[in-house]
Amino acid sequence: MTADSAPIADVLLPLALDGPYSYRIPPGLPLVPGSYVAVPLGPRQMIGVVWALRQEAPEGTRLRDVLGVFDMAPMPETHRKFVSWLAAYYLEPMGNVLRMVLRVPSAFAEPRGQTAYRTTGATPKRMTPQRARVLEEAREGFAMRASELADAAGVGTSVIKSLVKDGALEAVALPALRAFVAPDLNAGGLRLSREQQKAAQELRAVVAARAHKVMLLDGVTGSGKTEVYFEAMAAALASGAQVLLLLPEIALTQSFLSRVEARFGCDPAQWHSDLRPRERERVWRGIATGEAKIVVGARSALFLPWKKLGLIVVDEEHESAYKQDEGVPYHARDMAVLYGSIGKFPVVLSSATPSLESLVNVDRGRYGIVRLTDRHGRPELPEVGLLDMKLQKLEPGAWLSPPLVEAVTRTLQSGDQALLFLNRRGYAPLTLCRACGHRMNCPNCAAALVEHRFRRQLMCHHCGHVEPIPHACPSCGAENKLTPVGPGIERLSEEAARLFPDVRIGVLSSDLSRGTLLRDALREVEDGETRLVIGTQLVAKGHHFPHLTFVGVVDADLALESSDPRGAERTWALLAQVAGRAGRGEKPGRALIQTYVPDHPLMRALKNGDRDGYLAQERAIRESAGLPPYGRLAAVILSGTDAAETERVTRDVARLVPLGDGVTVLGPAPAPIAIVRGRHRWRFLVKAGRDVNIQAFLQQWLKDVKPKGALSLQVDVDPYNFL
Ligand code: ADP
Ligand code: ZN
Repeated sequence: MTADSAPIADVLLPLALDGPYSYRIPPGLPLVPGSYVAVPLGPRQMIGVVWALRQEAPEGTRLRDVLGVFDMAPMPETHRKFVSWLAAYYLEPMGNVLRMVLRVPSAFAEPRGQTAYRTTGATPKRMTPQRARVLEEAREGFAMRASELADAAGVGTSVIKSLVKDGALEAVALPALRAFVAPDLNAGGLRLSREQQKAAQELRAVVAARAHKVMLLDGVTGSGKTEVYFEAMAAALASGAQVLLLLPEIALTQSFLSRVEARFGCDPAQWHSDLRPRERERVWRGIATGEAKIVVGARSALFLPWKKLGLIVVDEEHESAYKQDEGVPYHARDMAVLYGSIGKFPVVLSSATPSLESLVNVDRGRYGIVRLTDRHGRPELPEVGLLDMKLQKLEPGAWLSPPLVEAVTRTLQSGDQALLFLNRRGYAPLTLCRACGHRMNCPNCAAALVEHRFRRQLMCHHCGHVEPIPHACPSCGAENKLTPVGPGIERLSEEAARLFPDVRIGVLSSDLSRGTLLRDALREVEDGETRLVIGTQLVAKGHHFPHLTFVGVVDADLALESSDPRGAERTWALLAQVAGRAGRGEKPGRALIQTYVPDHPLMRALKNGDRDGYLAQERAIRESAGLPPYGRLAAVILSGTDAAETERVTRDVARLVPLGDGVTVLGPAPAPIAIVRGRHRWRFLVKAGRDVNIQAFLQQWLKDVKPKGALSLQVDVDPYNFL
């Protein structure tokens, strides 16, 4: 059906709406399902997507006209299905999902003959804070369109115009968007080992079948999984399809991109949160037209308007970074699998520590598996030792036991690189007053403030609140009595600097993740310039540090006690990955783990390299508790600024819980972090059997719950965050 025969278009708008709105199509406007259109909404104009065309308008409504259509390839049916299925799965308004696809407003501006603005160096006659912000943004280097520049500076476009009039900004013509170079499938590629060849061959066969199939690529760290899935990508590209390689955002480093470039002879399109607007536009358009063939991206790359996707590879598939908690709470690995089933193409999940979810899917016969057991051309996996901290004597304020210090000393002496791993940002997780016992808490959250000594601040890791470190205790007024309790990596780096005064130490955490700082720091580690690395989980993720031969885990017990049903599995994956960083170069690696529970099955399995034994046990625990992947979970959180009102409404919602076969609703209870950003939070946990339609249950329960005012209701299907 085309617009000639159908005068009405149902247009989905990027707003919290469950379905499309109808508009009249003016005669002659060439619309098809998937067309990007401009439509009026109240006094505004909006961009939307034609979801359907039809003959008759809904009864009794006066429709407004579609204003125009963008000269752009329509959104393919597969992608539209993906949007609506994802919305249904997460009980999210469809329009909210569409908003994630349309998050590149500049793509809808006219592509040619555009004007951009850059600074001239002249100072405007009059300086206002708004003008200063614009100039600061413009000074960053690239010329930007007026609307982009205004957005970046948080001002109206009139400020830009007045700065042009004053001579502080000048207009320049924007060059056309840089074209995409077609990949050369034989550009690079290493000579694969026999085992790698066999694995690659299996994946190629799955790709050649052009049907939906999920393959788990399960291989120890350093076994060459990347090289192997590159071959699957080459096979998909050879068939003319587009390929998406998903990575956790922080693993998306320059050195990784260079590997992709070396293999395929072209720089792949990148997609991540700190991409320039113009580059976002280029990639978005290239994906829509099909010119961009390879995208290496973080989770949101799934929402690019794929013309013809033929393969998704999810590297580090076990990573919790694939779960988005804000906005639409989706899991990118699961949604990659969903996309593959809609688009009828294969999905490769790769990891050295696959998630229990994926392993169980292999056992159930739903996923295929390819294994790599040799570390390519390298010694075996690092030898892992446990240090029973109950037997170690530590000075107050010291965290590194004598055997750990000795191991680091020997490593450094032999010219190698060492890593100390502690999964805690900042200087100390807690600050107490030694005079009155007062604890420095966040004013907005039920959580302790974390000291960040380099910045001389106390910071809340939940809401971002910061305050200077006070001299006197705010409770009793005693001076110089506030004391840091427990270690963070900054504090550890102080200890390391005392112990190894002449060694170049690098401290790596997500506090560096702004811009180039982190990339530089990682490069110095890869180059071996940094001799001793101190890092959080950030260093555990997929990096290749060829000079690293020793890993010390400072506190292995941190995540074991969490309320998260995946807490132990995560600890396992994290520690196994961290240990796997050692010995990826020529020399063998070694890891030492400080723990107070050396008899814990997880610690014993780490020491013995007994992954299968550990996982079997973890599976038994989950199965008997009916937890994922043996059962389904959803979290329902009510929050509000008024404690009493939030509790009252939560109790009302509790009374609405319907009877459901195979469903248990736990709670309501105050959420583990009961106050965040001044909002009081109550939580229900919904537990259901694997074959229960948990969405239908939630819908039936919550259909009439319409929180008003400051109250809000969040539903998280398959939650990963149990705070
Ligand atoms: P994984 O992703 O399994 O951790 P990688 O693919 O990153 O492993 O490989 C680890 C290292 O071994 C990389 O430096 C890679 O270039 C190298 N490597 C893997 N396979 C080969 C091969 N067949 N020939 C030469 N080097 C290889
Ligand atoms: Zn806070």
